[in-house]
Amino acid sequence: MIALRGVTKRFGDNAVLRGVDLDVRPGEFLVVLGPSGAGKSTLLRCMNRLVQADGGTMTIAGLEARGAARATELRELRRRVAMVFQHHQIVPRLSVLKNVLSGRLGTMAVWRSVLQLFRASDIALAMACLDRVGLVHKAASRTDALSGGQMQRVGIARALAQQPQVILADEPVASLDPHTARQALGYLKQACRELGITVVCNLHQVDYAREFGDRIVGLSQGRVLFDRRPQELCEAELEALYAVSAAQAG
Ligand code: ATP
Ligand code: MG
Repeated sequence: MIALRGVTKRFGDNAVLRGVDLDVRPGEFLVVLGPSGAGKSTLLRCMNRLVQADGGTMTIAGLEARGAARATELRELRRRVAMVFQHHQIVPRLSVLKNVLSGRLGTMAVWRSVLQLFRASDIALAMACLDRVGLVHKAASRTDALSGGQMQRVGIARALAQQPQVILADEPVASLDPHTARQALGYLKQACRELGITVVCNLHQVDYAREFGDRIVGLSQGRVLFDRRPQELCEAELEALYAVSAAQAG
């Protein structure tokens, strides 16, 4: 579902991705762990082409990315690949349902999406997605009346409403307490299992990575340091992953 080969990205003098190879199978829940500045967000942004990689090749959800993408290719990529962000990126003054419906916009004919002419089937789908994250009863609420955990679940429902093949989640639970974080990750994992969606999820917490990841990739200074199943991951590898940034900080 995802194949990256030798992906590189630099910002000025800063070589952020230094030849990343990565394969993610359909329906897999892959966690990317790594210290701050390792390049995790940049990697996801390159995959969704919010940022243009400098080198290497990427095949994502059946679309090959080499060089600059045409607008139609980008639209198709964004349709097949949904993003979930740490800070939700939802519109607080809109209702929960409207936020989830916004996940449908990229799948609709352009004229329909401009006019926001949703069909009954779009609304039914959005409600089903809210049901998946346990928030049907909040459909009519303003989103800014929700807790942080509920908002993140709206973000997940919006991603699901897009009916994507892939979800890229960038530290989706970074600002949540452990109980709420586990709940949100649980909903994401359940969707991945039941709908066959492939998930790549950046996390900081090793515990969550072990609990939810089918596979864990350690990214350090723009390189893949290890690629393991949770039960294979050893302490020495984790120490090595965080040692470089600790040495730099200290
Ligand atoms: P964190 O865990 O703190 O979110 P990260 O692993 O996601 O870190 P990135 O956000 O990918 O790391 O950043 C990697 C490096 O790239 C950092 O040194 C950062 O300053 C740099 N960087 C990221 N985006 C840009 C940008 N748009 N312009 C310039 N430098 C950038
Ligand atoms: Mg980041």
